[in-house]
Amino acid sequence: MKITFTGAAREVTGSRHLLEINGQQILLDCGMAQGHRAEADAHNRNLPFDASKLAAVILSHAHIDHCGTLPVLVQNGFTGKIYATPATHDLTEYMLLDSAHIAQADADFWSKRHPNAEPIKPIYTQDDVSRTMSLFHDIEYDTPTDILFDIRLTFYDAGHVLGSAMIDLEFSEPSKDETRRFVFTGDLGRPGMPILRDPAKIEETDFLMIESTYGDRLHDHYDLVGEQLADIIKRTAARGGKVVIPSFALDVFEKHFECFDEEMKLIWLANKENPFGFGKLRYAKTVEESMAIDSSSMPSVVISASGMCESGRILHHLKATISHPKNTLLFVGYQAEGTLGGRLRDGAREAKIFGEMYPVKAEVIPLDAFSAHADYQEIENWMHGMKIKDSIFVVHGEEKSELALMNRFTEEKKAPHVFAPKEGESFDI
Ligand SMILES: [Zn+2]
Repeated sequence: MKITFTGAAREVTGSRHLLEINGQQILLDCGMAQGHRAEADAHNRNLPFDASKLAAVILSHAHIDHCGTLPVLVQNGFTGKIYATPATHDLTEYMLLDSAHIAQADADFWSKRHPNAEPIKPIYTQDDVSRTMSLFHDIEYDTPTDILFDIRLTFYDAGHVLGSAMIDLEFSEPSKDETRRFVFTGDLGRPGMPILRDPAKIEETDFLMIESTYGDRLHDHYDLVGEQLADIIKRTAARGGKVVIPSFALDVFEKHFECFDEEMKLIWLANKENPFGFGKLRYAKTVEESMAIDSSSMPSVVISASGMCESGRILHHLKATISHPKNTLLFVGYQAEGTLGGRLRDGAREAKIFGEMYPVKAEVIPLDAFSAHADYQEIENWMHGMKIKDSIFVVHGEEKSELALMNRFTEEKKAPHVFAPKEGESFDI
């Protein structure tokens, strides 16, 4: 078996890992790189492998940095199957259609501003998305399935977002006549969070590829987060301002009861209605509705995508709110280096939105306790008692957090070999 790291190696976004098992090529995730525009764009449009030679793609979950460039594979001749859980399948369709829509809107906006220049081509279109969705093949959690010659795939709940899965591959080593196991955590969730189940336990594997978004950090206690959030909202409302929350907003929860934890199932059954539609929640579907929020002087909480403030309606809400001290910008999700969200979180005094600079006067608050990623202590707890017979690959973290987790695993002798691979690096294993 051979593994090549072609994304999310020493960085968080653009997850894309190429496996070759007994002559068959499989891609784990095909995500969009974000931040540092030109670099990310090159990563997203150009594939460092021949897509037509891929036998299959396995998708861990529907976040855009894991699924966002699947249509680029299809443009480049990929015709194999894309394996995912049913909830990930559903969510991915929304994510990719939205992404195609944003790409088209960006291209139109650019052409309007530069009428004499060569127009830019959107990375993919709604048609590319339809072709991509026709390749999906659903596999439920905990259901071992033979996907290719001598390769068996099982999804386990990763407890990260709706439908999120760890990818477990079993295959044989012909020369040794023994079975080997390769487990990829995808993005690893946290125990005890509401709505979703805790990440499933893995007892034993030969290879573990693990994410490290918070590989060098600990989250605040989740118990206190309700009070913290209430304080932030009350304080902002008292100033007559808005709380703007960039979010990796995913809906279609109602369709996937099977993904909920026991507590959530009980709440749902007791209420016999959608717990996400509580009294004061309003969905702003049209652009006009979103614009009405911006022009209203009523205090409110605005939850809007994209989560790292790179695209989508959040940019309009930021433009309308960021330069006034009565408002609050609240970060509840991870902000990658090089994204607008990352710069604001790190205290930028100015924000560039649609090509213009705006002074940052709003209160900016990061609240990590809501994070859907395990911190290093939660990763350690999840790995407790796990037997790793060969190697650990640490991926999906900024360089310092990947290295911190690698060093920790090495010191604790979690496996005979521990690596934090670099982009483009290959390992024969
Ligand atoms: Zn994720």
